[in-house]
Amino acid sequence: MTIAYNKIEVRIRLAAVRSNYRLLCSRGSSIIAVIKADAYGHGLAEVAGALAKEGCNAFAVGTVEEGAALRRFLSAKGLNSRILVLLGPIDPDDYPLLWEHGLIPLIGSFRQLEALARQAARMGKALDMSLKFDTGMARLGFGTGDLARLLDRLREAPLVRPVMASSHLATADQPESVEYLLGQAERFAFILGALAKAGFVVEANLANSAGVLGHPSVHHQSQRAGIALYGANPFAGSAWDHLGRGLTPAMEVRTRIVSVHALPKGCSISYGCTYTAERDMRVAIVAAGYADAYSRSLTGRGAQMLVAGRRAPLVGRVCMQLTACDVTDIPDARPGDWAVLLGGDGPLAIRPEELASWWGTISYEVFCLLGMNRRVYI
Ligand SMILES: *Cc1c(COP(=O)(O)O)cnc(C)c1O
Repeated sequence: MTIAYNKIEVRIRLAAVRSNYRLLCSRGSSIIAVIKADAYGHGLAEVAGALAKEGCNAFAVGTVEEGAALRRFLSAKGLNSRILVLLGPIDPDDYPLLWEHGLIPLIGSFRQLEALARQAARMGKALDMSLKFDTGMARLGFGTGDLARLLDRLREAPLVRPVMASSHLATADQPESVEYLLGQAERFAFILGALAKAGFVVEANLANSAGVLGHPSVHHQSQRAGIALYGANPFAGSAWDHLGRGLTPAMEVRTRIVSVHALPKGCSISYGCTYTAERDMRVAIVAAGYADAYSRSLTGRGAQMLVAGRRAPLVGRVCMQLTACDVTDIPDARPGDWAVLLGGDGPLAIRPEELASWWGTISYEVFCLLGMNRRVYI
């Protein structure tokens, strides 16, 4: 996953993750920390360890194998936190691991439910699970039309114990889409009513980070928060920007300047000669490129780095291991200095949402991809 000998360095501030968790706890009632995909590129074990110190005792991962890895880590620390597996079992091999590691899978199809019931009967052991409902995301989950059959099957398979009910919001971070969110909330409430009527007492969770920060009406008993833990504001740039204030980005990415040289007026730079100097310039060549997941699509989008505390615009195409930036107005820039690609100190720090917008993506993808590089914890 990582190319350890590349120069790019991902610095993770676990104190920021902890402070973001505290902020989320002050807004929600019971936060399940979503640390899937290697904690959005911040490191599964490191983030879980930091959050455990804040008293977090419920985590959500993506795959069963990720859950098993987290369980091994937590057990070694003497912790027996709950671990939700958001994708649920996918391969046949996944099923026995749920019991072995005490994982709570989200179960959203009859296929999964039957396989789980068969495994439970084979082992003669019960398993706690969360029923996953589709209320508008249309990815995974039982629909309202499945309820009658689902309740029948649950009554017939007492070893498969629904202790939770989950659904996922599609538009919680878009203030203009509140109607859609309310529709999802209504369907979820209807489902919870049907479960309660059938005698199933569950811990319900619907809210993601944006739901925690912006929609108290969908908080239910617990909330599954991911992106805000890492300090990105789900409402960045929207009318509700202020709701994510106080979150601190935990990831900083930097690399070395390899060379600084003149680029005389009229000369072009990098592959395809797509950029030509309109004045006499100085450029810094930095050791980062698309092989480090510093995307080639940052080319020509007004993207910037931070050099000696000042903004340096990218010039020319992003290459495999090198990128050029304009340091004409940054006389301090020297080979061997750091160039900061994400984060940095002071008011000019590059915010995750800013890098994401140049990149044509969202902060989630920026974290997941850049986080695949060598990480250090500070
Ligand atoms: C990733 C994920 C979350 C967390 O969403 P954020 O927007 O990162 O807070 C919550 N629930 C499910 C099912 C997810 O897949």
